Amino acid sequence: MTAELIDICFNFTHSAFRDDEQEVLNRAIEAGVNRLMVTGSSASESRYCIELAERYPQTLYATTGVHPHLSKDWGAQTLEQLREMANHERVKAIGEAGLDYNRNYSPPDAQRFAFERQIELACELRMPLFLHERDAHEDFVSILGPYLGELSNVVVHCFTGTGEQLDAYLNMGLHIGITGWICDERRGQHLQQLVKRIPLNRMMLETDAPYLLPRDLKPPPKGRRNEPAYLPHILNTVARCVGLDAADVAASTTTTTRKFYHLD
Ligand SMILES: [Zn+2]
Repeated sequence: MTAELIDICFNFTHSAFRDDEQEVLNRAIEAGVNRLMVTGSSASESRYCIELAERYPQTLYATTGVHPHLSKDWGAQTLEQLREMANHERVKAIGEAGLDYNRNYSPPDAQRFAFERQIELACELRMPLFLHERDAHEDFVSILGPYLGELSNVVVHCFTGTGEQLDAYLNMGLHIGITGWICDERRGQHLQQLVKRIPLNRMMLETDAPYLLPRDLKPPPKGRRNEPAYLPHILNTVARCVGLDAADVAASTTTTTRKFYHLD
């Protein structure tokens, strides 16, 4: 695998990566994954994302945002902290933001509040927006919809929804992130069909590591930790589903990602 790939969701602040940071990045680069977006999930985690991006400036970029799970911690200073961090040269998007009613780790009203503040921030700063939606499609569409005219680049990451939901997102002009969920022989089946509907200029690839280890890796890695070096495995599954060469899917999705995040 020599094609260049970009992992748009790498939770590198997770404690699972503290003992072997450099090895994880080396394996990613050897696998062709030579640019990665380190995903912010709270104000303090976003600060850490920037530190990591400064530590590995050849490889890492950062996002700054508050994940729906952590929306209940949104405070009086949070918006200003995100605004200040977003100015950093390694920060390429606002997020991870959005709605997750699957487990409601934060109350839905707190999620909606934090989501809308971050949409407004992306509009104000004219930055790409990295979004998460689970079991919250209707509210997600009704909150995001009115801002679409002011937003250029919005991605719904780790899409796992229905065909109707996918069509709605595509009609709204959104980009779609595909994770190793698609490699799951059971719960990924519908996604293996739906992915054909996503134009390659709207599709981006992601591991969501250390989460969502592709279930069909053989042999499964010890510890079951996902890492960016497995992104080519996700690419190959997507390529098989859409009936194209992996090299072509890699080239197209990487071009899409570079444009989306304004990478040089
Ligand atoms: Zn997410």
